[in-house]
Amino acid sequence: MPSSEPDPSTIVFFDNRYVPLAQAQVGVLTHALNYGTGVFEGIRGYWDADIQEVMLVRPADHYVRWKRNAGILHLEIPPSPDELIEITAELLRRNAFHSDIYVRPLVWKSAQRIGVHADARDSFTIVAVPFGVYMDSAKGLHAGITSWRRLEDNAIPGRAKICGAYVNSALATDDVRRCGFDEAIFLSENGHVAEGATCNIFMVRNGRLITPGPADNILEGITRACIIELARDVLHLEVVERSIDRSELYVCDEVFFTGTAVELAPVTMVDHRRVGAGAIGPIASELRRLYTDATRGRLPQFENWIRRVSVPVSIHA
Ligand code: PMP
Repeated sequence: MPSSEPDPSTIVFFDNRYVPLAQAQVGVLTHALNYGTGVFEGIRGYWDADIQEVMLVRPADHYVRWKRNAGILHLEIPPSPDELIEITAELLRRNAFHSDIYVRPLVWKSAQRIGVHADARDSFTIVAVPFGVYMDSAKGLHAGITSWRRLEDNAIPGRAKICGAYVNSALATDDVRRCGFDEAIFLSENGHVAEGATCNIFMVRNGRLITPGPADNILEGITRACIIELARDVLHLEVVERSIDRSELYVCDEVFFTGTAVELAPVTMVDHRRVGAGAIGPIASELRRLYTDATRGRLPQFENWIRRVSVPVSIHA
Protein backbone atom coordinates (compact mmCIF):
# COMPACT_ATOMS: atom_id res chain seq x y z
CA MET A 1 0.00 0.00 0.00
CA PRO A 2 1.44 3.44 -0.79
CA SER A 3 2.57 5.25 2.32
CA SER A 4 1.55 8.87 2.79
CA GLU A 5 3.91 11.67 1.77
CA PRO A 6 6.47 12.39 4.48
CA ASP A 7 6.55 15.70 6.33
CA PRO A 8 8.65 18.15 4.24
CA SER A 9 10.49 19.22 7.40
CA THR A 10 11.91 15.68 7.85
CA ILE A 11 15.71 15.95 8.03
CA VAL A 12 17.42 13.99 5.25
CA PHE A 13 21.04 13.54 4.15
CA PHE A 14 21.50 15.19 0.74
CA ASP A 15 24.56 16.73 -0.92
CA ASN A 16 26.66 15.67 2.09
CA ARG A 17 24.54 17.75 4.48
CA TYR A 18 21.58 17.28 6.76
CA VAL A 19 18.73 19.36 5.26
CA PRO A 20 14.90 19.39 5.38
CA LEU A 21 13.31 17.10 2.79
CA ALA A 22 11.76 20.17 1.11
CA GLN A 23 15.29 21.35 0.19
CA ALA A 24 16.43 18.00 -1.27
CA GLN A 25 15.60 18.73 -4.91
CA VAL A 26 16.94 17.63 -8.32
CA GLY A 27 16.59 19.38 -11.69
CA VAL A 28 14.33 18.12 -14.46
CA LEU A 29 17.26 17.32 -16.79
CA THR A 30 18.92 15.06 -14.23
CA HIS A 31 20.28 11.97 -16.01
CA ALA A 32 18.64 9.52 -13.59
CA LEU A 33 15.21 11.18 -13.83
CA ASN A 34 15.30 10.90 -17.64
CA TYR A 35 17.00 7.52 -18.04
CA GLY A 36 16.47 5.62 -14.76
CA THR A 37 20.18 5.53 -13.89
CA GLY A 38 19.96 5.26 -10.12
CA VAL A 39 20.28 2.44 -7.59
CA PHE A 40 18.31 2.47 -4.35
CA GLU A 41 17.97 0.40 -1.19
CA GLY A 42 15.30 -0.20 1.41
CA ILE A 43 16.07 -0.83 5.08
CA ARG A 44 13.62 -1.22 7.95
CA GLY A 45 13.99 -0.15 11.54
CA TYR A 46 11.71 -1.36 14.31
CA TRP A 47 10.97 0.87 17.31
CA ASP A 48 10.96 -0.55 20.81
CA ALA A 49 9.22 1.97 23.07
CA ASP A 50 10.30 0.22 26.30
CA ILE A 51 13.99 0.75 25.65
CA GLN A 52 13.70 3.81 23.36
CA GLU A 53 15.66 2.13 20.57
CA VAL A 54 15.19 1.70 16.83
CA MET A 55 16.54 -1.63 15.60
CA LEU A 56 17.89 -1.34 12.06
CA VAL A 57 17.65 -4.69 10.28
CA ARG A 58 20.93 -5.83 8.70
CA PRO A 59 22.02 -2.29 7.71
CA ALA A 60 25.57 -3.40 6.90
CA ASP A 61 24.29 -6.04 4.45
CA HIS A 62 22.01 -3.49 2.81
CA TYR A 63 24.80 -0.91 2.45
CA VAL A 64 27.28 -3.48 1.12
CA ARG A 65 24.67 -4.60 -1.46
CA TRP A 66 23.93 -0.98 -2.37
CA LYS A 67 27.58 -0.11 -2.97
CA ARG A 68 28.27 -3.28 -4.96
CA ASN A 69 25.16 -3.01 -7.13
CA ALA A 70 25.78 0.70 -7.72
CA GLY A 71 29.01 -0.46 -9.35
CA ILE A 72 26.97 -2.18 -12.07
CA LEU A 73 26.05 1.34 -13.28
CA HIS A 74 29.52 2.75 -12.42
CA LEU A 75 27.96 4.75 -9.61
CA GLU A 76 30.26 5.60 -6.68
CA ILE A 77 29.12 5.91 -3.07
CA PRO A 78 32.19 7.25 -1.23
CA PRO A 79 31.33 6.50 2.45
CA SER A 80 32.00 3.04 3.87
CA PRO A 81 29.09 0.87 5.06
CA ASP A 82 29.95 1.83 8.68
CA GLU A 83 29.87 5.53 7.81
CA LEU A 84 26.53 5.06 6.02
CA ILE A 85 25.11 3.34 9.11
CA GLU A 86 26.33 6.28 11.20
CA ILE A 87 24.57 8.77 8.87
CA THR A 88 21.40 6.67 9.18
CA ALA A 89 21.62 6.61 12.97
CA GLU A 90 22.09 10.40 12.96
CA LEU A 91 18.93 10.80 10.85
CA LEU A 92 16.96 8.77 13.36
CA ARG A 93 18.28 10.90 16.22
CA ARG A 94 17.82 14.26 14.45
CA ASN A 95 14.23 13.37 13.53
CA ALA A 96 13.59 11.84 16.95
CA PHE A 97 11.64 9.04 15.32
CA HIS A 98 9.60 7.09 17.85
CA SER A 99 8.02 4.66 15.42
CA ASP A 100 8.91 1.93 12.98
CA ILE A 101 10.84 3.49 10.11
CA TYR A 102 11.96 2.81 6.56
CA VAL A 103 15.28 4.05 5.18
CA ARG A 104 15.62 4.85 1.48
CA PRO A 105 19.23 5.30 0.28
CA LEU A 106 19.45 6.38 -3.38
CA VAL A 107 22.46 7.06 -5.61
CA TRP A 108 22.05 8.44 -9.10
CA LYS A 109 23.71 9.88 -12.19
CA SER A 110 23.29 13.57 -11.55
CA ALA A 111 24.56 15.41 -14.65
CA GLN A 112 21.86 17.74 -16.01
CA ARG A 113 21.98 17.64 -19.79
CA ILE A 114 20.53 15.82 -22.79
CA GLY A 115 22.18 12.51 -23.77
CA VAL A 116 22.07 8.96 -22.42
CA HIS A 117 25.83 8.49 -22.10
CA ALA A 118 26.65 8.66 -18.42
CA ASP A 119 29.53 10.58 -16.86
CA ALA A 120 31.12 10.53 -13.45
CA ARG A 121 28.73 12.97 -11.74
CA ASP A 122 27.03 10.95 -9.04
CA SER A 123 24.94 12.10 -6.07
CA PHE A 124 23.48 10.17 -3.19
CA THR A 125 20.90 10.72 -0.50
CA ILE A 126 19.58 8.86 2.52
CA VAL A 127 16.01 9.48 3.67
CA ALA A 128 14.35 7.91 6.70
CA VAL A 129 10.58 8.09 7.20
CA PRO A 130 8.05 6.64 9.66
CA PHE A 131 6.63 3.47 8.14
CA GLY A 132 4.13 0.87 9.24
CA VAL A 133 2.57 -2.18 7.61
CA TYR A 134 3.25 -2.19 3.84
CA MET A 135 0.99 -5.03 2.81
CA ASP A 136 -1.78 -6.31 5.05
CA SER A 137 -1.34 -10.07 4.84
CA ALA A 138 -2.97 -11.00 8.15
CA LYS A 139 -5.56 -13.15 6.35
CA GLY A 140 -3.22 -14.25 3.55
CA LEU A 141 -2.82 -12.71 0.09
CA HIS A 142 -4.32 -13.58 -3.27
CA ALA A 143 -1.45 -13.45 -5.78
CA GLY A 144 -1.78 -13.53 -9.55
CA ILE A 145 0.72 -14.32 -12.29
CA THR A 146 1.21 -11.14 -14.31
CA SER A 147 1.44 -11.29 -18.10
CA TRP A 148 4.51 -9.02 -17.85
CA ARG A 149 7.74 -11.05 -17.71
CA ARG A 150 10.51 -10.48 -15.16
CA LEU A 151 13.33 -8.51 -16.74
CA GLU A 152 16.36 -10.46 -17.86
CA ASP A 153 19.84 -9.99 -16.44
CA ASN A 154 21.19 -9.23 -19.91
CA ALA A 155 18.66 -6.42 -20.40
CA ILE A 156 18.53 -4.73 -16.99
CA PRO A 157 20.07 -6.65 -14.05
CA GLY A 158 17.24 -7.38 -11.63
CA ARG A 159 19.69 -8.30 -8.88
CA ALA A 160 20.33 -4.59 -8.36
CA LYS A 161 17.63 -2.18 -7.28
CA ILE A 162 18.09 -0.10 -10.43
CA CYS A 163 15.52 2.71 -10.60
CA GLY A 164 14.61 2.12 -14.25
CA ALA A 165 14.08 -1.59 -13.61
CA TYR A 166 11.15 -0.78 -11.33
CA VAL A 167 9.02 0.07 -14.35
CA ASN A 168 8.82 -3.73 -14.64
CA SER A 169 7.48 -3.98 -11.07
CA ALA A 170 5.12 -1.02 -11.51
CA LEU A 171 3.59 -2.51 -14.69
CA ALA A 172 3.11 -5.89 -13.02
CA THR A 173 1.58 -4.41 -9.86
CA ASP A 174 -0.80 -2.22 -11.84
CA ASP A 175 -1.76 -5.20 -14.02
CA VAL A 176 -2.66 -7.58 -11.18
CA ARG A 177 -4.30 -4.96 -8.93
CA ARG A 178 -6.65 -4.02 -11.79
CA CYS A 179 -7.48 -7.73 -12.01
CA GLY A 180 -8.34 -7.82 -8.30
CA PHE A 181 -5.23 -9.55 -6.94
CA ASP A 182 -3.15 -8.29 -4.01
CA GLU A 183 0.31 -8.89 -5.47
CA ALA A 184 1.96 -10.01 -8.71
CA ILE A 185 4.05 -13.10 -9.38
CA PHE A 186 6.54 -12.72 -12.22
CA LEU A 187 7.58 -15.51 -14.56
CA SER A 188 10.94 -15.17 -16.33
CA GLU A 189 11.12 -15.26 -20.12
CA ASN A 190 11.88 -19.00 -19.82
CA GLY A 191 8.53 -19.53 -18.08
CA HIS A 192 9.78 -20.23 -14.56
CA VAL A 193 8.58 -18.45 -11.45
CA ALA A 194 10.93 -15.58 -10.57
CA GLU A 195 9.51 -13.52 -7.71
CA GLY A 196 6.88 -10.98 -6.67
CA ALA A 197 6.88 -7.38 -7.90
CA THR A 198 8.78 -6.18 -4.82
CA CYS A 199 9.53 -9.40 -2.97
CA ASN A 200 10.98 -12.89 -3.23
CA ILE A 201 8.84 -16.00 -3.29
CA PHE A 202 9.01 -19.33 -1.44
CA MET A 203 6.89 -22.46 -1.64
CA VAL A 204 6.61 -25.46 0.68
CA ARG A 205 6.29 -28.84 -0.99
CA ASN A 206 6.51 -32.16 0.84
CA GLY A 207 8.10 -30.52 3.88
CA ARG A 208 10.86 -28.80 1.91
CA LEU A 209 11.23 -25.05 1.49
CA ILE A 210 11.90 -24.17 -2.16
CA THR A 211 12.80 -20.81 -3.69
CA PRO A 212 14.15 -19.74 -7.10
CA GLY A 213 17.91 -19.17 -7.21
CA PRO A 214 19.90 -16.13 -8.37
CA ALA A 215 19.97 -17.32 -12.01
CA ASP A 216 16.15 -16.95 -12.22
CA ASN A 217 16.43 -13.13 -12.46
CA ILE A 218 15.59 -12.53 -8.82
CA LEU A 219 16.71 -9.74 -6.58
CA GLU A 220 18.93 -11.50 -4.04
CA GLY A 221 16.86 -10.44 -1.07
CA ILE A 222 18.23 -9.94 2.41
CA THR A 223 14.92 -11.04 3.94
CA ARG A 224 15.17 -14.13 1.73
CA ALA A 225 18.58 -14.83 3.29
CA CYS A 226 17.12 -14.34 6.79
CA ILE A 227 14.27 -16.76 6.10
CA ILE A 228 16.64 -19.39 4.66
CA GLU A 229 18.81 -19.11 7.78
CA LEU A 230 15.84 -19.33 10.16
CA ALA A 231 14.41 -22.31 8.26
CA ARG A 232 17.69 -24.21 8.27
CA ASP A 233 19.09 -23.33 11.67
CA VAL A 234 15.97 -23.06 13.82
CA LEU A 235 13.33 -25.21 12.10
CA HIS A 236 15.90 -27.67 10.63
CA LEU A 237 14.08 -27.65 7.31
CA GLU A 238 15.66 -28.64 4.04
CA VAL A 239 15.91 -25.51 1.88
CA VAL A 240 16.36 -25.92 -1.88
CA GLU A 241 17.16 -23.18 -4.40
CA ARG A 242 15.82 -24.30 -7.76
CA SER A 243 13.53 -23.21 -10.56
CA ILE A 244 9.79 -23.49 -9.90
CA ASP A 245 7.10 -24.07 -12.54
CA ARG A 246 3.94 -21.97 -12.47
CA SER A 247 1.74 -25.01 -11.92
CA GLU A 248 3.81 -26.14 -8.93
CA LEU A 249 2.38 -23.12 -7.13
CA TYR A 250 -1.09 -24.61 -7.74
CA VAL A 251 -0.27 -27.98 -6.15
CA CYS A 252 2.15 -27.07 -3.34
CA ASP A 253 1.34 -26.81 0.38
CA GLU A 254 2.30 -23.21 1.15
CA VAL A 255 3.45 -20.07 -0.65
CA PHE A 256 4.78 -16.85 0.86
CA PHE A 257 6.57 -13.65 -0.13
CA THR A 258 9.52 -12.09 1.67
CA GLY A 259 10.99 -8.60 1.52
CA THR A 260 12.06 -5.70 3.67
CA ALA A 261 8.76 -3.88 3.16
CA VAL A 262 6.39 -6.88 2.92
CA GLU A 263 8.25 -8.79 5.68
CA LEU A 264 6.87 -12.37 5.45
CA ALA A 265 3.52 -12.29 3.67
CA PRO A 266 1.65 -15.61 3.35
CA VAL A 267 -0.18 -16.28 0.07
CA THR A 268 -3.36 -18.34 0.40
CA MET A 269 -4.59 -18.13 -3.21
CA VAL A 270 -2.69 -18.12 -6.52
CA ASP A 271 -4.62 -17.41 -9.72
CA HIS A 272 -7.99 -18.18 -8.05
CA ARG A 273 -6.73 -21.53 -6.76
CA ARG A 274 -6.37 -22.29 -3.06
CA VAL A 275 -2.80 -22.88 -1.92
CA GLY A 276 -2.86 -26.03 0.22
CA ALA A 277 -5.90 -25.74 2.49
CA GLY A 278 -6.41 -22.08 1.51
CA ALA A 279 -5.28 -20.84 4.92
CA ILE A 280 -1.96 -19.57 6.27
CA GLY A 281 0.26 -22.64 6.61
CA PRO A 282 2.25 -23.75 9.67
CA ILE A 283 5.70 -23.14 8.17
CA ALA A 284 4.85 -19.61 7.01
CA SER A 285 3.36 -18.84 10.46
CA GLU A 286 6.35 -20.18 12.33
CA LEU A 287 8.89 -18.41 10.08
CA ARG A 288 6.95 -15.16 10.34
CA ARG A 289 6.97 -15.42 14.14
CA LEU A 290 10.72 -16.12 14.17
CA TYR A 291 11.47 -13.30 11.71
CA THR A 292 9.42 -10.84 13.77
CA ASP A 293 11.18 -11.86 16.99
CA ALA A 294 14.66 -11.81 15.44
CA THR A 295 14.24 -8.37 13.84
CA ARG A 296 12.92 -6.89 17.06
CA GLY A 297 15.90 -8.06 19.06
CA ARG A 298 14.09 -10.82 20.92
CA LEU A 299 16.30 -13.71 19.74
CA PRO A 300 19.86 -13.39 21.12
CA GLN A 301 21.10 -15.87 18.48
CA PHE A 302 20.27 -13.30 15.77
CA GLU A 303 21.36 -10.17 17.61
CA ASN A 304 24.05 -9.71 14.94
CA TRP A 305 21.26 -8.95 12.40
CA ILE A 306 20.28 -5.75 14.14
CA ARG A 307 21.96 -2.46 14.87
CA ARG A 308 20.40 -0.70 17.85
CA VAL A 309 20.10 3.09 17.72
CA SER A 310 19.10 4.87 20.87
CA VAL A 311 16.54 7.65 20.18
CA PRO A 312 15.75 9.33 23.50
CA VAL A 313 12.37 11.05 23.84
CA SER A 314 13.87 14.43 24.64
CA ILE A 315 15.78 15.43 21.44
CA HIS A 316 13.23 17.53 19.49
CA ALA A 317 9.90 16.58 20.92
N1 PMP B 1 12.58 -8.52 -5.16
C1 PMP B 1 12.37 -7.25 -5.53
C2 PMP B 1 12.07 -6.94 -6.97
C3 PMP B 1 12.42 -6.23 -4.58
O1 PMP B 1 12.22 -4.95 -4.94
C4 PMP B 1 12.68 -6.55 -3.23
C5 PMP B 1 12.70 -5.47 -2.18
N2 PMP B 1 13.98 -4.97 -1.98
C6 PMP B 1 12.92 -7.89 -2.89
C7 PMP B 1 12.84 -8.85 -3.88
C8 PMP B 1 13.24 -8.29 -1.47
O2 PMP B 1 14.53 -7.87 -1.10
P1 PMP B 1 14.91 -7.55 0.40
O3 PMP B 1 14.50 -8.71 1.20
O4 PMP B 1 16.39 -7.38 0.37
O5 PMP B 1 14.18 -6.31 0.77
